[in-house]
Amino acid sequence: MASADAPLRSKLSLNTATVREQWNLEQMIEACARQGISRISPWRDKLDELGADKTASLLRTHDISVSGLCRGGMFPAVDQAARDAAIADNRKAIDDAATLGADCLVLVVGGLPSGSRDLVGARQMVLDGISAVLDHARSAGVPLAIEPLHPMYCADRCCVNTLDQALDMCDQLGHGVGIAADVYHFWWDPNYLTALKRAGKSRLLAFHLCDWLVPTKDLLVDRGMMGDGIIDLRTIRQEIEACGYTGAHEVEILSSRWWAVDPEMVLTTVIERHQAVC
Ligand code: ZN
Repeated sequence: MASADAPLRSKLSLNTATVREQWNLEQMIEACARQGISRISPWRDKLDELGADKTASLLRTHDISVSGLCRGGMFPAVDQAARDAAIADNRKAIDDAATLGADCLVLVVGGLPSGSRDLVGARQMVLDGISAVLDHARSAGVPLAIEPLHPMYCADRCCVNTLDQALDMCDQLGHGVGIAADVYHFWWDPNYLTALKRAGKSRLLAFHLCDWLVPTKDLLVDRGMMGDGIIDLRTIRQEIEACGYTGAHEVEILSSRWWAVDPEMVLTTVIERHQAVC
């Protein structure tokens, strides 16, 4: 690695969704160590397979830190019992994030409850849900990062769809809550730069990278490798850092085409493209 590349390289984080079909978490951690990637962001399905304590120990062995735990959230639900279950699950996620020393717990907040058309009500359930776990997160020292998702996911995954909407929630909730800014979800937003400035250093908790392919053939699993799409990644990276963000550049590519590639090659490509286009 050329020394000029070192500062950028040290920011790189592997979100485990990128190679989720090829490797388990232990294999991912070992591959990061082999390839000189010093940060990782596990998804909880992979974490549960390995266990939080064993994962934390492996990460220490390899000197790899956790840029974020994916994910908590999914608060709206049809009845109180289901909402309570979501709150309990988020408390567990907070505990796991604390065990891992994660920079934050990423929240994908949830969409409409099954059969509902009450979007206002769903958004209130999100606020109520985050409120219910916030003291737990504060005392665990785990910042909560609301991740606005592209509006195409509003019904089924996330009824928070712009950075400003997430920041409005942060304003209501108080300290301990910020945002996860994922280029895939905000690149189209004419107000994203104003929102990044509004968020500022204290509320910019995570930065996720991939690319938007034209055409996009699947709403969920056709995200692009950086450089293969139309997002001006370098400009956005410079903008978010000018707004005070100092954390990881987390590569999160949900892509059936990259899931079919040799995972070692995926990581090599991630490293090259991060240097070349971010
Ligand atoms: Zn993301």
